[in-house]
Amino acid sequence: MKFEHLWEHVNIPHALLFVGVATQTIDFAKTFAYGFLCAAPQQGHACGTCKACQLLAAETHPDYLVLQAEGKQETIGIDTIRSLTDFCEQTPQCADKKIIIIPNAHNMNISASNALLKTLEEPSGNTYFLLTTHVTCALSATIRSRCQMIRLPHYDEDTPDWQNILHADCDALLRGTLDPLQAAQKWQKEDLLILLAQIEIYFAKIREFARLDKINAMRRIVLQHGSINPVLQLESLFIDLSRN
Ligand SMILES: [Zn+2]
Repeated sequence: MKFEHLWEHVNIPHALLFVGVATQTIDFAKTFAYGFLCAAPQQGHACGTCKACQLLAAETHPDYLVLQAEGKQETIGIDTIRSLTDFCEQTPQCADKKIIIIPNAHNMNISASNALLKTLEEPSGNTYFLLTTHVTCALSATIRSRCQMIRLPHYDEDTPDWQNILHADCDALLRGTLDPLQAAQKWQKEDLLILLAQIEIYFAKIREFARLDKINAMRRIVLQHGSINPVLQLESLFIDLSRN
């Protein structure tokens, strides 16, 4: 999705989940937040000169918070999430809203995730949460259901769209001209659930119902148990899909 398109949504939901390559999604969330807090945004982009923009540039904006993981483990624990409570409760000081960015939200442990869920369930009117991840299946289903998911394409905008490339690879798998293990390597950086949805579209189009069952079975596993090893799961799916 192009940045400008996001702004065509008049009502921005209170929790957005940006899915894509790690650094790219974090940058995107920050750009989005800057434009959202700016007093005079142009097509969603911050003006760079208003008071809000100056505070953001100086990293002293009182209504903007980027969550930091604890230590080298990069785990987001319950204390970190609890520390948000004060920020959520205070009145915005600059404009009419506050923004919290949670980079790599999949690093939340279970108790942190439960604590965040409570906050998302009772959103204070003017706090917006921007979560980022490259592994949606490592996020709890309840957290996912509270967020509007925005997928950022892995390929640049100059490259033909990734869905068509994936569909061509599915076709090659079926014809036996693409090695399933190679295909898994190629797509491993993509989010598994979003890949499954696209692979499903391809096999539904060519009415390969037996293969659709396999895709659904994998989705059930990922939704119920999370994704323990996305590459292995992708390999086993691609091997399954390429079999006659
Ligand atoms: Zn501005």
